[in-house]
Amino acid sequence: MKSINRPLENINDILDIFFSDNPQSNVQGQITANRASLVFLEGQYISKVQDNTLFEMPRGIPNIITLSKGDLIRYYKYRMLNKENARKFYDTLLLSAPNNICPYCTIKNVKTVDHFLPKSEYPYLSVVPSNLVPCCRDCNTDKKISYPIDNDTQTYHPYFDNIENESWIKAELMCTEPLSFQFRVERLPHWNDNKFNRSVNHFKTYNINELFSNEANRELRTRQFYFKQLLNRDNIQLIEQIEDTYNSCLNSVGVLDWQTIMYACLKENSWFLQGCNGSDYFL
Ligand SMILES: [Zn+2]
Repeated sequence: MKSINRPLENINDILDIFFSDNPQSNVQGQITANRASLVFLEGQYISKVQDNTLFEMPRGIPNIITLSKGDLIRYYKYRMLNKENARKFYDTLLLSAPNNICPYCTIKNVKTVDHFLPKSEYPYLSVVPSNLVPCCRDCNTDKKISYPIDNDTQTYHPYFDNIENESWIKAELMCTEPLSFQFRVERLPHWNDNKFNRSVNHFKTYNINELFSNEANRELRTRQFYFKQLLNRDNIQLIEQIEDTYNSCLNSVGVLDWQTIMYACLKENSWFLQGCNGSDYFL
């Protein structure tokens, strides 16, 4: 998971944009009547996500809201996506992830906007900026309408949680033909049960093992001929090359990138660095 900057706008700004997009509309009365409640619920959302208690947010329509579920979802579908100024906010949000990389999986390109808490269960968060996260289509689809039911089932929120500087995903080299990688969550010594369970939940929800293994397996296949040439000269050259690549990845893309994790695994694997005991794996 990669942290990204929260949108600068809040729900008040979005409602103002709806006003400017619909100066003659009777929706203005609806917005005025519900503005204070939506602002209150946005504050509650931000407070709870920071306290790691987002699962406590009420589902459905809180009784302080007079809009229906359909009204609120239409605010997103027809006012945010279709109207001029609101659409500009949405398009800016789509471009807000650095390098256009999905912050949930850190692999695929951003193509859509996800409701972190799904609008079908939390319609009053349909147009709350802090609940709108740019992401790839797969992460949006894989998450579907899932929502947290307790501390442990919460995934990480790219606007509020920062876990990208901790080495909590590890790779293992599998002695398959061809060689392949599996990734897993490593429980760090200072973690409590909740941190571990949340990490596992995030890892599973976004299919991190599958995505990272695909990338790492492809990298190994494309580099295998080169590694073999180094090994044929002297395995010290292979060791140095793996170490250099690891350091380069660590200092450029960070400790939680699939490539850094992959090379961290290889540089500790003496069986691999010795040429897989002369087996055919390296052919
Ligand atoms: Zn993704």
